[in-house]
Amino acid sequence: ALASREYKPQDTVIDVRGHKLGAGGVTIMAGPCSVESLENIVDVAKAVKRLGGHVLRGGAFKPRSSPYSFQGHGEEGLKMMAAAREVTGLPIISEVMEPGLVDLVAEYVDILQIGARNMQNYPLLREAGRSGKPVLLKRGLSATIEEWLMAAEYILAQGNPNVILCERGIRTYETATRNTLDLNAVPVVKSLSHLPIIVDPSHGVGKRAFVRPMARAGVAAGADGVIVEIHPVPDKAMSDAAQTIDYEEFGRMVQEVNRVASAL
Ligand code: PEP
Ligand code: MN
Repeated sequence: ALASREYKPQDTVIDVRGHKLGAGGVTIMAGPCSVESLENIVDVAKAVKRLGGHVLRGGAFKPRSSPYSFQGHGEEGLKMMAAAREVTGLPIISEVMEPGLVDLVAEYVDILQIGARNMQNYPLLREAGRSGKPVLLKRGLSATIEEWLMAAEYILAQGNPNVILCERGIRTYETATRNTLDLNAVPVVKSLSHLPIIVDPSHGVGKRAFVRPMARAGVAAGADGVIVEIHPVPDKAMSDAAQTIDYEEFGRMVQEVNRVASAL
């Protein structure tokens, strides 16, 4: 398999507008769950940059559990993200949910995000593979590591070597947290595959008090980076408010994960 260590022993390093992901440091991606407004995303982007982040995240096409919840600003949201990149120079990542929208989203973003609910949407994976853009592939809510790596294979098989895996928590019997961040997956994936892997403690735990400790733990386990949801006023976030941290907490998290990484 193209994703396997047997096929390619050396770690894959992904160039994102000059930032090297998987080259040994910790890549930090942060931003709101949903792009809310131009003012908001530019404010967040400046904070991400000032506090030591590398990539701006923000959902424009949102996979909401309820069809009555805010579905995102769509292409307008992508334009706001691109404007925030213009101001800060930060690369941007956003989710694409439909094969027919891959070309549109790829025109704006530096990394295409494939969400947990779409991990096994094979037509979407193929289109993302064809786009030529780096792809962040989130682990499905109940996917095994084997199934996840096979999903990555669909992207690689299109001739696109730039796949980043993202552990975002799985469904277990535990209800104290939204999901269970499976940190086992980090060293297991590292042993099976050359692809970089990052962790998403925001969706992994679902509660803001636990995001920073689990970001540290992910890096301690060997992750190449973290992706977290931040907002100037987390309680006012239009989606995933409960798991969203403020700038101060994010700044603390950046300091801590960098300290963990340099101690390894
Ligand atoms: C998100 O990143 O906001 C998101 C919807 O993530 P996931 O696909 O992991 O649920
Ligand atoms: Mn979210």
